[in-house]
Amino acid sequence: MLYIGCHLASSKGYKAMGMQAVDINANTFAFFTRNPRGGSAKALNMSDVEAFLAISQEHSFGKLVAHAPYTMNACAADENIRRFAREAMADDIKRLEATPGNYYNFHPGSHVKQGTEVGIAFISEQLNAVLTKEQSTTVLLETMAGKGSEMGRSFEELREIIDRTELSEKLGVCLDTCHVWDAGYDVVNNFDGVLEEFDRVIGLSRLKAIHLNDSLNPLGAHKDRHAKIGEGYIGADAIIRIINNPHLKGLPFILETPNDIEGYAKEIDFLRKNYSE
Ligand code: FE
Ligand code: FE
Ligand code: ZN
Repeated sequence: MLYIGCHLASSKGYKAMGMQAVDINANTFAFFTRNPRGGSAKALNMSDVEAFLAISQEHSFGKLVAHAPYTMNACAADENIRRFAREAMADDIKRLEATPGNYYNFHPGSHVKQGTEVGIAFISEQLNAVLTKEQSTTVLLETMAGKGSEMGRSFEELREIIDRTELSEKLGVCLDTCHVWDAGYDVVNNFDGVLEEFDRVIGLSRLKAIHLNDSLNPLGAHKDRHAKIGEGYIGADAIIRIINNPHLKGLPFILETPNDIEGYAKEIDFLRKNYSE
């Protein structure tokens, strides 16, 4: 089974996202848990959640990959920004229990000239403050392109964050194909080698989700600009090899390509046609 979907707007609620996913032949999706500009999240409407859960069951959806606001910076130098990150993440994790057992992906953060050591310490400190034994959601660290002082540019950095987190059984990794390519991992010519390295450094059992994107920039550019599937440096052939890689069987693949909903529907259709069970 190929679990594939894209980012959907959450403004109309869970049921609307579920119906839109079905509409474009998706069986997973991503959405922002709250407005990236901050502020509190909308109150959950439990009948909307129930309606979504029914759709999800009827259509055998895979795991959802909720996305934390990208403005969240767990390792900011400013204490107020770190506090917002901690409170927003704790609240998101609580709210996600309405749709239990899914994933919550976040960008580890930017150390803003404090250095990677400080960055790692702050990020794991936040995780130690917000993760609970009771939560059913797995929190995913996203692999990043390494733009500026962005953390998570290497598997080693993610491993260190995981190592310093007490409830590390609640942690996994979301691999973004554009980001790792931009970070210097050659997913085009040596995807198996990249997975071997992931396994050696982090452990493949931590790999829970894939952000499936092409990249506008060459290997190692540290830029992070997504392209449509087949319109970037990664290319359609490599992406087809990735979705068919046996190590990734059953993982949710989320498109974050620059598309409107019709564009996503076309990409999903294209990828399904090029997937073999
Ligand atoms: Fe992301
Ligand atoms: Fe991503
Ligand atoms: Zn990106």
